[in-house]
Amino acid sequence: MNKLKQIFIRKITYVILIILIAIVVVIQRVIYLSEGPKLTQKACPPLFPDSEDGSQPTNIKVDALARLIPWEQRGGSIDDASCLDKTAVFGIVEVKNESDIKNALIFAKENNLKVSIAGVKHSMGGQAFLKGAMVLNMVGFNKKILNEAENTMTVQSGATWHDIQNWLHPKYAVKAMQSTDIFTVGGSISVNAHGMDHQVGSLGKTIQSLRIMLPDGTIKTASRTENPELFNLVIGGYGLFGVVLDAKIDITENVLYRSERKVINYTEFLDTYNNQINSDPDNQLFYGHLSTGPQSFLKEMILYTYKKVDEPGVQIPPLAEVSAIPLRRLMINFSKQGYLGATLKWFAEKYIEPKLESCDIKSRAQALGEGEACLVSRNEPMHDSVKYLKNNLKNDTDILQEYFIPRGQFVPFVDEMRKVLLANHANLLNASVRVIHKEDNFLNYAPQDSFAIVLYLNQKTDAQANQNMAKLTSDLIDLSNEYSGRFFLPYQLHYTFEQLKKSYPEINGFFADKKKYDPDGLFRNTFYEKYSNQI
Ligand SMILES: Cc1cc2nc3c(=O)[nH]c(=O)nc-3n(C[C@H](O)[C@H](O)[C@H](O)COP(=O)(O)OP(=O)(O)OC[C@H]3O[C@@H](n4cnc5c(N)ncnc54)[C@H](O)[C@@H]3O)c2cc1C
Repeated sequence: MNKLKQIFIRKITYVILIILIAIVVVIQRVIYLSEGPKLTQKACPPLFPDSEDGSQPTNIKVDALARLIPWEQRGGSIDDASCLDKTAVFGIVEVKNESDIKNALIFAKENNLKVSIAGVKHSMGGQAFLKGAMVLNMVGFNKKILNEAENTMTVQSGATWHDIQNWLHPKYAVKAMQSTDIFTVGGSISVNAHGMDHQVGSLGKTIQSLRIMLPDGTIKTASRTENPELFNLVIGGYGLFGVVLDAKIDITENVLYRSERKVINYTEFLDTYNNQINSDPDNQLFYGHLSTGPQSFLKEMILYTYKKVDEPGVQIPPLAEVSAIPLRRLMINFSKQGYLGATLKWFAEKYIEPKLESCDIKSRAQALGEGEACLVSRNEPMHDSVKYLKNNLKNDTDILQEYFIPRGQFVPFVDEMRKVLLANHANLLNASVRVIHKEDNFLNYAPQDSFAIVLYLNQKTDAQANQNMAKLTSDLIDLSNEYSGRFFLPYQLHYTFEQLKKSYPEINGFFADKKKYDPDGLFRNTFYEKYSNQI
């Protein structure tokens, strides 16, 4: 009897021990998946290891000018948000005013250096730097002037949307920007960014004028009427024509919206957009998310609309930061781990996220306890610094891609894209849909009204994973070409010159104009270096 009891106690002890170990392992995993980064930039093995080794020019003139330049870093390396582009540079200049830029250009010319221009480096293919170049870090160049009489602001190009929103709030709001707020104005102009305001369209459409420092240090104003050729080249010009100093940009009133969500089948999207969303001018902000859940992969779709409401006397509170960051980060990182995580993330987006939404503005009906949907001011949905996307996961990074597809081709494109993603075993974390209008800048991603499909993909950082991502990207670019679409250029350079030319038949003219405005090729980046000599 005693022996039996002993065996029983031993077994129970083992079971309790195993449960305790399992609990500790799960807790450790949850902490790992939800923890924020300890460093601002994660270290990954570079896609092109050669670019990491720097050799400095030997005949640099250490003159008075070099001492005038505010070096943030001499030598060393730089990387972008992909974490895969670690590149040795001559140095980084911390730009604070116009003379810093002018001195840097003179110094670069005297010493036969190339110059790259960087915002917060959320482009993902070295568009903001080049091996051996002198990089201008524009982030500290960020003054802002409000012109209330004309509903515009004039902002220096290093200002971020985050700072601009905090400064404009509560009375005014940005008219066109990305759907998140981390980016600089200069970086956004140079890719012609677009976001949630489906009526306004791209940032380019809201720019009145730009002041640009050209390679020879002179400053030109460019607008639709003054130097229009330069204006159309610099918008979406990837920093190749000059340094954007400041921009005069339209702003708008920070009106109140009622946020709404609707789940549909993706085949209903075009009709729903045309007949229920776009047909009502009060629906001012809009975007969609296609399902990344395995059971409804790219079939279910959540539509997010923000409809203008009149609520006189409502107090707009200060702008809040996005809540529940560790929980959001945990959800995204867990979704990378496989079927269960991906299912849970889509479930959470459908059913849990609505409850986390910050909507601290009370309508009269809510105040009276009658209940009503969430009210937010315009600045809020775009005031998202995506801290939950930053993580400590080892050997792991997330890559953005974007395809612009003529609106009528949405359903067949998504059907084929689903096949390509599955065949390539892609780990898709998010698939947003945005509305794009016909653009008219030179290197134009939308020669016709389109929908943008934005893919956020997880990958490992080893050579095989990079090869897989290169193949997937190339397949998707070919697919977008088949549907008369184009791909967005701020991302990884996993395409050939032929693919670039097919998407952007104007690329030869773009590179020819670059030579006209910058005959000595002072402004350079990795994109230009890779493709310009293949014309
Ligand atoms: C998570 C994530 C979300 C994104 N969401 C969106 C979105 O919703 N909509 C969208 O359109 N894009 C989106 N993007 C892409 C992003 O808009 C672009 O990469 C944008 O350029 C980022 O701004 P930046 O400050 O990081 O610019 P950088 O990456 O630093 O620079 C981009 C380009 O601009 C040039 N440049 C920078 N400053 C200047 C200047 N002052 N003068 C001249 N040239 C300059 C650089 O040389 C470079 O070629 C997203 C990217 C990521 C990673």
